[in-house]
Amino acid sequence: MIILEDVNKSFSMGSPALNNVSLHIEKGEFVFIVGDSGSGKSTLIKLLLRELTPTSGKIIVNHTDVVKLKHGKIPRYRRGIGVVFQDFRLLKDRNVYENVAFAQRVISVPGREIRKNVPGVLSLVGLAEKYKSKPRELSGGEQQRVALARAIINDPPILLADEPTGNLDPKNTWEIMKLLEQINKNGTTILVVTHNREIVNEMRKRVITMKKGVIVSDQKKGGYIDED
Ligand code: ADP
Ligand code: MG
Repeated sequence: MIILEDVNKSFSMGSPALNNVSLHIEKGEFVFIVGDSGSGKSTLIKLLLRELTPTSGKIIVNHTDVVKLKHGKIPRYRRGIGVVFQDFRLLKDRNVYENVAFAQRVISVPGREIRKNVPGVLSLVGLAEKYKSKPRELSGGEQQRVALARAIINDPPILLADEPTGNLDPKNTWEIMKLLEQINKNGTTILVVTHNREIVNEMRKRVITMKKGVIVSDQKKGGYIDED
């Protein structure tokens, strides 16, 4: 589902953000990406989203050669990937329903289907009752659940989450992680970047540890590796 071969990414100055990264992720996997700040985690996510292109190396996602992808094909490619960020990125002047429906409107899903789909995903994330609320009226945990609903409403085969619980308290962090686990059980391949040691150690998923742009460890049913 996701293949990286000898991927390098250098920015103009300093040491490379990614240094010869090779990685295979199968369909249906749940993978944590951990590592110090600056170790290249977000760069990896941005390469998968084709927000960045690598300096060298091969990236295949869902049978698409992401490096060779033509500009005009990027929007369609990105439809296959749901994304969640630390800062939620909701539309502030739209309510919960509209924030989620928007993801379907931009790909021209018929209104009748949108009206059926949105309540469905809002119940999945436990927000059916709050569909009329504006983001500012919601807690951080609720806002992230809206972002998650928006990320999955088009049923993407892949979901990427870059520190999705970075702004949340422990209770909301667990709720988001449990939702991600449930979405994964429904078949979505999931990559989660996180610093949360307790979560990573409890959930026993595949754990990829990065350090200075290099994958230093890749464990099945792994845990958080302490810095030396
Ligand atoms: P992480 O997400 O693990 O904290 P990043 O992938 O954001 O790390 O960054 C990895 C390295 O690449 C850091 O040294 C960072 O400063 C550098 N970097 C990231 N994005 C840019 C950019 N747009 N321009 C220059 N350097 C960057
Ligand atoms: Mg980052």
